[in-house]
Amino acid sequence: MEYPESREKSAELLRQVVALMSQHDAPFNPITYTVWYEYAAGLNARLRDAMEGFMVSEPRLGQGTIERLYREHVASVDDKTMDRISRDFQQVMTNMVHHVTRTGDQAGAFDAELTGLHTALHGQDTDALRARLQQTLQRSQAMRDATTELKVQVEASRAEIERLRADLDRAREEVFIDSLTKVLNRKGLDHRLGQILTQARVGQGPTHGLVMLDIDHFKQINDRHGHLVGDQVLAAMGEVLRQVVTDPTHVVARYGGEEFAIVLPNAGLEAAAALAEKVCRTTRAMKLRKRNAHDVVLSVTVSAGAAAHHPGESAQDWMARADAALYRSKQAGRDRVTVAEVS
Ligand code: GH3
Ligand code: MG
Ligand code: MG
Repeated sequence: MEYPESREKSAELLRQVVALMSQHDAPFNPITYTVWYEYAAGLNARLRDAMEGFMVSEPRLGQGTIERLYREHVASVDDKTMDRISRDFQQVMTNMVHHVTRTGDQAGAFDAELTGLHTALHGQDTDALRARLQQTLQRSQAMRDATTELKVQVEASRAEIERLRADLDRAREEVFIDSLTKVLNRKGLDHRLGQILTQARVGQGPTHGLVMLDIDHFKQINDRHGHLVGDQVLAAMGEVLRQVVTDPTHVVARYGGEEFAIVLPNAGLEAAAALAEKVCRTTRAMKLRKRNAHDVVLSVTVSAGAAAHHPGESAQDWMARADAALYRSKQAGRDRVTVAEVS
């Protein structure tokens, strides 16, 4: 997930998140932080709905519920990474609490000092008053030092939390990336589709576009040249897609074995079809040299189906229509794009 907020906005969110965390029972750890962060930032509509649902019967969300929300609506991160980040986060929080407590103690002592000074001011003993004043000045200095230290500490903690969040983001993204093709995997695609379909449409603009792609006669490539070359072709396909799909709002994923998908949020069917044509052209033009065999050059083609999202349609039905269009491309001779009819 990307976190597009500015630094000012994220500082404000940090305050909101800390306030929310303190109103609930789940412990202060990165999981709890991330769940409340996404809730407060309004980044994840499904998460928000689920949380509001839980809060009806459990007004103070506990650890179990927060972890479940994280697993079901945010991401799964391997246990080792989670443990490490949890420990670091705990340390940051412990330091913060320590410094806040110390500053609080200093403020309490300073307050007592001022009360003493106030009493001395009403007495007649000028020596005692002088001594009091001297003491108060020292206290005031100590108070200033503690506040400065707290400020430094808060800034360091903020930076540390930001670093931990980036760490967590990276770990979460890895779960969603296909290592061979370096595009999103099926899980990543499902996650993004869920987000896109729960976000409100932007005004009366175009609907979302979807392209399903399938490499032609891929089994033959495997059979003739071996599985390793097949993998090399898949990696090259990933490269073509990353090169052709330049709009950062578009989503590219490996859907299955030699099948890929592109989602174009708020971009419409024409844009989807045009992008699919470009992928077909670029793939067709690609010449792949078989590793360690300079003379063997492979050509690959890909077939595509494009479909626009109908209001209220499930991701599954939408994909099935794009898949049916892809099937027609195969039937018609492959290496082409078919657009799903508007039904
Ligand atoms: P069509 O043009 O109709 O799509 O024919 P095709 O041969 O591409 O389709 P088919 O579904 O018959 O074969 C897909 C093949 O993809 C079969 C499977 O072994 C291979 N495959 C799936 N995943 C991988 C992978 O990760 N690496 C390699 N090398 N092959 C894979
Ligand atoms: Mg296939
Ligand atoms: Mg195929």
